[in-house]
Amino acid sequence: MALHLLKRPETEVQALAQALVDAKTQIGYCSVCFHLSAEPICSICRAPSRDPQTLCVVADSRDVIALEKTREYRGKYHVLGGLISPMDGIGPEQLNIGPLVHRVNKDKTQEVILAISPSIEGDTTTLYVGQLLKPFTKVTRIAFGLPMGGDLEYADEVTLARALEGRRELT
Ligand SMILES: [Zn+2]
Repeated sequence: MALHLLKRPETEVQALAQALVDAKTQIGYCSVCFHLSAEPICSICRAPSRDPQTLCVVADSRDVIALEKTREYRGKYHVLGGLISPMDGIGPEQLNIGPLVHRVNKDKTQEVILAISPSIEGDTTTLYVGQLLKPFTKVTRIAFGLPMGGDLEYADEVTLARALEGRRELT
């Protein structure tokens, strides 16, 4: 690509560079669920057909995309923006956990589904968020037939749909 660009007029190269910068800056986060979105509120949050009483909590936007592919889930999402990891200096306050608690209380959410892959960080996060939300709502965890450390995004649609269907209440 670099060699090809060298042969182009400079104005054209500048226009291309500007287009790339624009594309990058236009993508932000949904102010409600923190999923990647070019709009202030993402299309999932805006969809009237989605059940606002059910929230699926995931680590990042890739998990939203993976779960959407199953076409099984009709609720809404909340993206944490990572996992609690003391080793990497990531505590609950660095994640979108405060806004999640606020949202559950405000919307009177009926069920929060924790869809976080099993790993040390994933289990810590699931436990922390689960304990935090249990006084306010029903909290379930999706049933993983996945190996430890298996990522949601690498699971096929059927496995994910089954995991969602087989979710259990967190104790
Ligand atoms: Zn959203």
